[in-house]
Amino acid sequence: MTYHTSLLTAVDSRGHVHLVVGSNPLAAARCNQSLAVGATPILVAPEPSKGNLLPAALQVRVDAGEVQWVREAVRSNEHLETLGRDAVDGFVDAVFVTDYDNTVAETVSSACRRRRIPVNVVDRPDLCSFSLPSTHAEGPLQIGITTNGSGCKLAARIRREVAATLPAGLGEACARLGALRRRIQEEDRKTTEAGTSTTGKPRIENVLSEDDSYDQSAAFNQLVPSPETGADGRDNNNSGDAEIAKTRRMRWLAQMCEYWPLKRLAGVTDADVEALLEAYARGTALPKDAPVADKEAATSALPGAESDQGRIILAGSGPGHPDLLTRAVHQAILSADVILADKLVPQGVLDLIPRRTEVAIARKFPGNADAAQEELIEQATAAARAGKTVLRLKQGDPFVYGRGGEEMIRLRAAGFQDGRTLFVLPGITSALSGPLFAGIPPTHRDAADQVLICTGTGKKGKPPVPPGYRVSRTAVFLMALHRITGLVAELTTFTAEEEENKNLGRTLWPLSTPCAVIERASCPDQKVIRTTLEHVAAAIEQEGSRPPGLLVVGRACDVLYTPIATTTGDGSKPWSVEEGFAGLDLDSISPVGLASLA
Ligand code: SAH
Repeated sequence: MTYHTSLLTAVDSRGHVHLVVGSNPLAAARCNQSLAVGATPILVAPEPSKGNLLPAALQVRVDAGEVQWVREAVRSNEHLETLGRDAVDGFVDAVFVTDYDNTVAETVSSACRRRRIPVNVVDRPDLCSFSLPSTHAEGPLQIGITTNGSGCKLAARIRREVAATLPAGLGEACARLGALRRRIQEEDRKTTEAGTSTTGKPRIENVLSEDDSYDQSAAFNQLVPSPETGADGRDNNNSGDAEIAKTRRMRWLAQMCEYWPLKRLAGVTDADVEALLEAYARGTALPKDAPVADKEAATSALPGAESDQGRIILAGSGPGHPDLLTRAVHQAILSADVILADKLVPQGVLDLIPRRTEVAIARKFPGNADAAQEELIEQATAAARAGKTVLRLKQGDPFVYGRGGEEMIRLRAAGFQDGRTLFVLPGITSALSGPLFAGIPPTHRDAADQVLICTGTGKKGKPPVPPGYRVSRTAVFLMALHRITGLVAELTTFTAEEEENKNLGRTLWPLSTPCAVIERASCPDQKVIRTTLEHVAAAIEQEGSRPPGLLVVGRACDVLYTPIATTTGDGSKPWSVEEGFAGLDLDSISPVGLASLA
């Protein structure tokens, strides 16, 4: 589907003449809007017929001389070309038609278009050359929302929601940061004029432009060197270094705007601005507790932030939905210099990685898991030794079949120390959240008192020893669906080897044990199949399989569900299938499975 969108602009309307056609309450609102942006509104409308009055708000403005009222019906040719500013030969700068009969509106609109005068006609998008977004204003900060004709009520609602999420004081903070920016520019201009610039290039433009429609330059993300020394480590005492210092200062401000939590930016005070300026003017270190450039603000909540060595954070990204990340892992994603992700890390999570961050995804495919693991370890070690914060991102929980333990051992051996340069953050494991999103409580009083997390794939392809049956046991099998037939056989019958060795001590799982297959838990294409061990292999074969998926076996599967009939005789399948995941938006939460519990 393609959509029509508009070029959003912010028009400096100071001194402009706005023609407002009509004399209803909307005309009053338009006049107020024009006055608020420094324009001069001129009302064009005949005297209201006998007994009618101008809206009070408008009459007040007219009486105060703020709104000039031309008491006649609009005449396009004349009014459009004569009521405006001399500077633009008498043409008006914009026209707002607020009430009309259709012919008048059409005539005014086409007259405006011919003269390139922007025109807006209420409720007639076809006659408008521009529309006014629903706006939120706070100090110099303005936020405009348009749905491009899909509904102004909707736009207003979205605008309110957006505005409500902003921290208090952001408008004032914009003004303060703007002042800081101007003062830095001012100081740099002085330095340049004093003849210390080598290039004279206005580098400011590169780093401080408000237009973010192009990517940041590679230089943007380079570490800002400490103020005592230039980027090359030498003292700041010659012209080249002055240039470096200047660039550094501008980049520092740009980075601050990029990386600081909005709340912290909103809290910048006049005193902060002075302290920042003073520190930089003197070229000394920043005052303690003053805002520090680069990512330190974002990382200060993480352990080991005080260390200037690199570090490695091993973290779990949850089962799929990005809302299932922990705050700690989300923070780590936002602040890491380098992210090394396993192939299974869900797209929704990868989408959260800032575009400036270096990312590598494991080139893992059957047969090269060890090599891929090795490669990532090497990359992590090298980057951390170069002083970077490296995030090793794993799917689910890093210590549940994530080989996280192995990586810890390797990294320790490479000299990284727990709690100093090596950290591990948990993630929500699919082993427990998968069943949950299928409405299966792995433990439940009187039904299941233990849960085993098992793998269906053993080392070097050899099947692992299957767990024995207990009526109150729930077993969750990861990495198992590709060999479901073998797994079911192992659970429900003795292996040839066991028979041979007369090793028949384990209790077999009855074929009638309820089970569920949960695939892509918490992803939009989540799928749940409920059946019994007897039919699960056939169900997967017939319904198809979309990895990753897991198998839950045990009575817990039926705790919140009525067992489905597996001996139907009427030709229907002995399993049920549910597709989809409604998301985690609490306003609409109804993950499949949970929804059908009611
Ligand atoms: N560390 C991960 C597990 C890694 S092993 C965790 O804690 O979740 C990979 C296996 O996890 C897959 O073969 C599959 O069985 C399971 N798995 C991972 N994500 C899943 C998901 N969203 N839905 C169902 N199973 C998933």
